[in-house]
Amino acid sequence: MTLRFGKFKGQKFNNTPKWYQEWLLKQDWFNAPKTKAKPLHNQLNGWDGYSSRGQAIYDAIFQQEQNEMIVLGLECKCGLPKFKEDEYCSGDYCSIEG
Ligand SMILES: [Zn+2]
Repeated sequence: MTLRFGKFKGQKFNNTPKWYQEWLLKQDWFNAPKTKAKPLHNQLNGWDGYSSRGQAIYDAIFQQEQNEMIVLGLECKCGLPKFKEDEYCSGDYCSIEG
């Protein structure tokens, strides 16, 4: 499976760091059946991978998903993944916050 979102977009799931795999597998949205079609994704159908329009859509999807992650509480403001119930991720930068 090639990841189509997030920090490791374009990489095979199996090639991503173990912590990321474990984190992804714990996420409800990742395991949930993909029943909701996302309009932006539909626009990519037929994209040859090179046109600037395709790239713009791809960037928009990445931005959209990154925003969703932050809104859902699944990504820290520093860009690292975190657990929903935590205010900050476990990164050194964030744990000394305040
Ligand atoms: Zn953080």
